[in-house]
Amino acid sequence: MKKILVTGGAGFIGSHLCEKLLNQGNEVICLDNFFTGSKSNVIHLLNNPYFELVRHDVTMPYFIEVDEIYNLACPASPVHYQYNPIKTIKTSVMGAVNMLGLAKRIKAKILQASTSEVYGDPKIHPQTEDYWGNVNPIGARSCYDEGKRCAESLFVNYHKQNGVKIKIIRIFNTYGPRMLPNDGRVISNFIVQALKNEPISVYGDGSQTRSFQYIDDLIEGMIRMMDTPDNVTGPINIGNPNEFRIIDLAEKIIKLTNSKSEIKFFPLPEDDPIQRKPDITLAQKHLNNWTPKYDMDKGLLKTIEYFKTIIK
Ligand code: NAD
Ligand code: UDP
Repeated sequence: MKKILVTGGAGFIGSHLCEKLLNQGNEVICLDNFFTGSKSNVIHLLNNPYFELVRHDVTMPYFIEVDEIYNLACPASPVHYQYNPIKTIKTSVMGAVNMLGLAKRIKAKILQASTSEVYGDPKIHPQTEDYWGNVNPIGARSCYDEGKRCAESLFVNYHKQNGVKIKIIRIFNTYGPRMLPNDGRVISNFIVQALKNEPISVYGDGSQTRSFQYIDDLIEGMIRMMDTPDNVTGPINIGNPNEFRIIDLAEKIIKLTNSKSEIKFFPLPEDDPIQRKPDITLAQKHLNNWTPKYDMDKGLLKTIEYFKTIIK
């Protein structure tokens, strides 16, 4: 049995990760400040004696003895990470410093939940890990993008300078049950609007693309990454290369929910990337033949079922 710390463990991805790690027979300490996460995401785990929930902010040091650390603490939706941009930067950067310092002291392996946002508005397509990205350092998304880029640099340098065992994954747009209905991300927005027969809010003309992966595929990839040999540090993209135009996603969700909603167009937010699609060659090579199993219809139907249970 391993003892594992998951920061941001009460969030969307973190709660699924905690659940899977517990199911695999590990002891899990879930650390969260409940900014975008909540107790309700992990309430079903609280009766498990091998699960511990800790209210703590990663910008402050934290001491514990564990074998592995998954560092997920950071708001992920543009609405939430832009709400308090300075705090977002502190969470990414100071959170990484604190967790890397902990990993160094206790000799734990540590995985960073980085993001496709490090590629910014990418000029190469699909994105490979050796692409340095196209990020506006002073734009609306920079608190998140640059915070995550700085965290990657910290991880790589703690590895080189101090021999810390690191793993960096770059997560592409992920969706599934336990996304917040109001967190502003496109899949939750569209499903909630469709279920309420309200207008579907497409930003811009909807020709921008994203590639969406279902949560279970990501969790499988994350755990496989943690289990790779020490010389596999990443960064490694984890995503589903199925690329969709946002307008087509809107139409698909209307169809799958049998909704009466119509599409309504709104201005495109500042620095909204035009295209995004992961090259997953490295993941397939290093993660024991990992490959996404959920196609869009299957993942969306499961997510729609979830939102039906929480929408009045
Ligand atoms: P989320 O907002 O649901 O989860 C983030 C969690 O971190 C929340 O529980 C929140 O309360 C917690 N948190 C935030 N600031 C904190 C702090 N200072 N101290 C302690 N806890 C804090 O988002 P998510 O989608 O589950 O994302 C989890 C991680 O994965 C994030 O690091 C995010 O950048 C990364 N990621 C997610 C996606 C995606 O599509 N969901 C894509 C790329 C990267
Ligand atoms: N988007 C949209 N309508 C919404 C929410 C988002 O058209 O109600 C668009 C957004 O402009 C972006 C894409 O959907 O082009 C994905 O947005 P999201 O916030 O989910 O993720 P990110 O931009 O961080 O990839």
